[in-house]
Amino acid sequence: MPYVALTIDLDRDYPVPVSGTLKAASYSPECKPSFTCTIRGLKALSNMLEEISLKVTFFVEARALQHICAHDEALLGVVTKNEVGCHGLDHEDLAGKYTGVPIPPLQQLALIRKATEIISEITGLKPVGFRAPYLSTTPNLGEILRSLDYKYDSSIYSESFKPPHPYLLGCKLFEVPLPLYPLNERKATLYTWTLHEGKRSFDEFKHILDTYIANDDGGLLMISTHAWHFAYRISSNLKLSPRQVQENVSLLYRLIAYLEDKGVSFLPIGEYLKKTNRNI
Ligand SMILES: [Zn+2]
Repeated sequence: MPYVALTIDLDRDYPVPVSGTLKAASYSPECKPSFTCTIRGLKALSNMLEEISLKVTFFVEARALQHICAHDEALLGVVTKNEVGCHGLDHEDLAGKYTGVPIPPLQQLALIRKATEIISEITGLKPVGFRAPYLSTTPNLGEILRSLDYKYDSSIYSESFKPPHPYLLGCKLFEVPLPLYPLNERKATLYTWTLHEGKRSFDEFKHILDTYIANDDGGLLMISTHAWHFAYRISSNLKLSPRQVQENVSLLYRLIAYLEDKGVSFLPIGEYLKKTNRNI
């Protein structure tokens, strides 16, 4: 039975790196962080997840979580009912791939430690996994996560036609790779990004999923999304109406229903690792 994890990056509204700066902005003319679309998207998602009792993995940006809580503490329940991972303090580009500012190892450790403390304090749960903002990883990230008692990282793509298998990084931390579908020169990630932006049809997405399911040999198929993307369309820089938000949620619901009809088993990443005897 193929295993599928739905992962939700819970970060600020469409985060963009700012040259020479550690903290991310949100995509807007003012180039400041905002959290309104994240909050609206999370609210809409929470109703759907509740209705179908689906357990997901949230990769939480600590600052976004503080804003979510300040706005509506009830939303915290959505996060704590699921698996909690960490997605940075202020959505930092650890390797400096886009900001031009590589963060030195000790500062990476301090930032991730601070993020871990904030997330733990607010949720009452110690984050088990980590996803690097912009998937911008560094050679020492595994060691840092290990020293903070993380069980896995999930920031690296693995290109294949079958659900990828986790592997151990040198420091005994599991890497749980994101699938990357080798589709000619235009490779396909399984972020729902393309669906929300109308860049890939639902049928094309289904076709990719069919291939993964047909080739499954016990790996983990990860489908990923961002809470804000349910309430914001990048291509037209548009904050979506409640009806449009609902349409985006319905798209994800249809995807989940399609996979459930195929007999897949949905579970958070940590549960998959336990089930497959990776002693985390
Ligand atoms: Zn992010």
